[in-house]
Amino acid sequence: MDLYEYQGKQLFAKLGIPVSDGRLAFTPAEARAAAEELGGPTVVKAQVLTGGRGKAGGVKLANDADEAEQHAANILGLDINGHIVRRLWIEKASDIEREYYLSITFDRSEKRPLVMLTTEGGVDIEEVAAATPEKLAKLHVEPLVGYEPFEARSLLFEGGFDDPGEQKQIMDIIGRLRDGFSRFDAMLLEINPLIVTPDGTVRALDAKVTVDDNALYRLAEIAEMDDLEGADPLERMARERGVTYVRLDGEIGILGNGAGLVMSTLDVVGQAGGKPANFCDLGGGGQADSVVKALEVITADESVRAILFNIFGGITRGDEVAKGLLEALDRMTIDLPIVVRLDGTLADAGRELLAESAPDNVVVADTMLAAAARAVELSR
Ligand code: GDP
Ligand code: MN
Repeated sequence: MDLYEYQGKQLFAKLGIPVSDGRLAFTPAEARAAAEELGGPTVVKAQVLTGGRGKAGGVKLANDADEAEQHAANILGLDINGHIVRRLWIEKASDIEREYYLSITFDRSEKRPLVMLTTEGGVDIEEVAAATPEKLAKLHVEPLVGYEPFEARSLLFEGGFDDPGEQKQIMDIIGRLRDGFSRFDAMLLEINPLIVTPDGTVRALDAKVTVDDNALYRLAEIAEMDDLEGADPLERMARERGVTYVRLDGEIGILGNGAGLVMSTLDVVGQAGGKPANFCDLGGGGQADSVVKALEVITADESVRAILFNIFGGITRGDEVAKGLLEALDRMTIDLPIVVRLDGTLADAGRELLAESAPDNVVVADTMLAAAARAVELSR
C-alpha cells in the first residue's frame, strides 16, 4: 500500500523526523483557510500516489492565502500521470539552502534493506545513479540486528557530507528512518528532498512511503489511511470482505482458485468470444464463507450476465469446493447462470455432489474451454 505524502509525513512525525507544519484541504476555500491558519508563505501540494508532482505543476508556492486559494483551484482536478488530484496538502513554505536525498528500500536480490544517501537531492534518484553514481552512498543493513550508528557514519562519509551540524541531524534521521522501516513493515521510505534550511536545519520536505500489504493486519493506524473513496465501489466492497478482486469491463464474472488459474481463465473467456467482468481469486480454499463473500462481490456488479467458477484442486479438494458452493448457494439466491469447471483432486466426487443437489442454474462443464464457451453462451 502506498501512502500519500501527508500520511507519510504523519508517520515521519511519529518517528521524530522533522517535517513542516501543514493542513489537508479538499477545496480552494479549505486551502485558503489552511494558509490563513498557517500564516505566511505556504506551498500548495497535490496529493496523488505518484511522483514528479513538481514537474507536472502540482507543487506551487503561495505568498499569501489568496494565492494559496488560486493555486488550489488550479491544482485540484489536475491529471498527474493518470492520477486526478482530489486532495491537497497545504504546508508552511521552507527556505531551501540545499536538497539531499535519503531512502530505505527493500532489496529483494540481497534479501536486505538498502539505505541510500546523496547530496544530489530533488531530482530522480535513477538520474543520480546513472549520471553520478560515485555520489550515491549505498549500504545494505541487517534487519534483525537493528540500527547501528556506524551505518549512518559510513553513509555520511561515503556521500561526502562534511558539515558537522548536518552530520549530527542526518545521523539522527537515518536512525529514526531505520526504526520506522521495521516498525511500519515498510517496503520503501523515501525523503526527496531532504532539505537544509539557511539556518542549517535538516528537514523532510517530501515523503514517499510504501508498506507491505501483508502486514496491514497488524498496522491498524496505517490500514485505516487507505483511501477507500478513491477506489472503485466494488473493489472497496471486496477489500472490506477480504476478497481478492479486480473489476474489469466485460460480462462474465470469474471466480477461480489461484492467481495463475484466474489469469488463464480470463484468456480462455476471451478465446471463447466473451469478456471477463472481473478477476476474483479465492486463494487456496473453497470454503462456503469465502465463496459467499466472492459471489456477493461478483453479483453486485450489474454488468455480470453469467458466472464462471473455475477450480483446480491441488491441496484444495473438489468435494470440499462443491460443498462450499452448494452451501453458499443455500445461503444466498443467485439467478444468474453459474458454469462450474472442477478438476484435480477429488473432482469426480465434487461433480457428483453438484449433479445431485445443485440448483438448476448451475451447469457443470468438463473442460476449461467448454466451461468458458458455455458461460459466454449463457451470458447472451
Ligand atoms: P515531487 O515533485 O512529487 O517529488 O514533490 P516534492 O514534494 O519533492 O516537491 C518538488 C519540489 O518543489 C522540491 O524538490 C522543492 O524544490 C520544491 N518545494 C517543495 N516544497 C517547498 C518549499 O516549502 N519551499 C520551496 N522553496 N520549495 C519547495
Ligand atoms: Mn519529491
